[in-house]
Amino acid sequence: SFKGLSQFEIVQILNLAYHDDGMITAKDKDMILQEKEQFIKKSGLLELIHTKEHIEDIGGLEHLKKWLQRKGKIFNNIERAIAHGVDVPKGLMLIGMPGCGKSLAAKASAKLFEVPLVRLDIGKLFGKYVGESEDNMRKALKLAEAVSPCILWIDEIEKAFSGIGDNSSSNSVTTRLFGTFLTWMQEKESAVFVVATANDITSLPPEFLRKGRFDELFSIDLPNAEERLKIFQIHLQKRGRFHYDIDLKRLVEATDGYNGADIESSVKETIENVYLDDRNIVETDDL
Ligand code: ADP
Repeated sequence: SFKGLSQFEIVQILNLAYHDDGMITAKDKDMILQEKEQFIKKSGLLELIHTKEHIEDIGGLEHLKKWLQRKGKIFNNIERAIAHGVDVPKGLMLIGMPGCGKSLAAKASAKLFEVPLVRLDIGKLFGKYVGESEDNMRKALKLAEAVSPCILWIDEIEKAFSGIGDNSSSNSVTTRLFGTFLTWMQEKESAVFVVATANDITSLPPEFLRKGRFDELFSIDLPNAEERLKIFQIHLQKRGRFHYDIDLKRLVEATDGYNGADIESSVKETIENVYLDDRNIVETDDL
């Protein structure tokens, strides 16, 4: 966990950890994370995201959850896995409709892997001087390696890398950034697990999705009936408003074509309405 910190910082953290209860234990790891957060903030290139989401908060997407759990097992004890000859997982690409849980999955995987979640906003790397953008990209990737093991989340990656290949000058910077990123992905051996999300991949260059970059690519579609049922249940339960008289089957039938975010907002709004009407129980009809 101390990886990427200076000797001075390490000694300071150990001192603090020792002084608060006379021991240095695993729970002092939070302090290390706080220290890392400070230097991530100072860099302005990455953002540390605090997450509460657990893998159980995702309704459906069973294949993805199972896959993440397996990779999580590797990440939780990465040194041991490497000693066994296991390759360090590179990352995952999630593609699909908005509001279906891609960001949710990125956040939940950080909890599952027990590592920090850092977001890279590629749009923020563009600088006005020649070479500045690529330099920022290299610095950001180096920083991610310094805080590894971590998850590097790149949201809506197609927005950053679309239009590569047509020959305008702004695109040549994008193309070079893209090249820097691809080479890093290809050669990466550090425990930085990349989670890239995209709504649409038609504008992404094909070499991006070639094997060797990401370990796996998942396509996420609108939730089916069984998944909608789970999503209703999760969001009602989360707010303490689930009870067995709610006719989930009827709700599922009425919400064909809804995404997870739509379902969540219908639950939220209903609970608010019931409260404002001075009633206590959320009924199926309300929903
Ligand atoms: P995306 O990144 O795919 O556009 P998000 O993950 O941001 O969508 O989804 C928005 C919100 O909708 C989530 O924070 C979550 O509360 C809810 N949601 C979406 N999909 C699901 C799901 N499969 N299970 C539970 N909640 C979901």
